[in-house]
Amino acid sequence: MERAQIMIDNSSDLNEILKYSLKMSAQKMRTLAVFDLDSTLFNVSTRTQKILEQFAHEYELDDLKTIEILHSDWGIKEALLRKGYKDEEHKELHTNLRDFWFQRFFSNEYLHYDVPYAGAIEFVLELAATGAEIKYLTGRDVERMGRGSKEILLKWGFPCTDEQLILKPHRSQDDELFKRDWFIQLDREHYHKIYFFENEPVNINAVLEHCPDVEIIFLDTTHARKQTVTAKIQRIPHFKRS
Ligand SMILES: [Mg+2]
Repeated sequence: MERAQIMIDNSSDLNEILKYSLKMSAQKMRTLAVFDLDSTLFNVSTRTQKILEQFAHEYELDDLKTIEILHSDWGIKEALLRKGYKDEEHKELHTNLRDFWFQRFFSNEYLHYDVPYAGAIEFVLELAATGAEIKYLTGRDVERMGRGSKEILLKWGFPCTDEQLILKPHRSQDDELFKRDWFIQLDREHYHKIYFFENEPVNINAVLEHCPDVEIIFLDTTHARKQTVTAKIQRIPHFKRS
């Protein structure tokens, strides 16, 4: 019941954060807000939709052209299963599409198909205007997605300097350890308050365990279905405020 109420209206949570940050700034106290990108600020289902369209076109698979990627999909597999292509019967299709998707999804070129979640741009800009420091902490890596990430943030009007955008130095790094260690190494005493907006329970749980002083807001959009968030933290479906 309590969760349902929060899901319907984000206004109080997000407005409280804005108010608090403004109050802290007036007292010369620092606030840091850290945002994940994929499935936190950006809906990535449009990226996957574009890749699927190109695959269907290239291999002339008309049946795949009508598949709609849902906002709740994780990766590409769920869409194929929904269309009735079971992996045990269509192994080659699953493998080929997965490889095709993988090569493109994690690349600078395809980030341009992402769309920010409702209210995301406005919230980040308003929060920055209160005096909060804004950073983006993403599991995307520098080589494959660094350039595109910055371009896309600026294209949509998010504040973004090289210092604000923190990417994995190498793709082989584990997202969870990368984010956890970033918070562990951060001079957290420098800030009076630190917020972390993230959609992946694995990352949330790792940061919560090691840095319980960080206030995490769970973007309940979609995730890898490996873990759930059991801690009583704020959860929101997007950044829209009524
Ligand atoms: Mg994410």
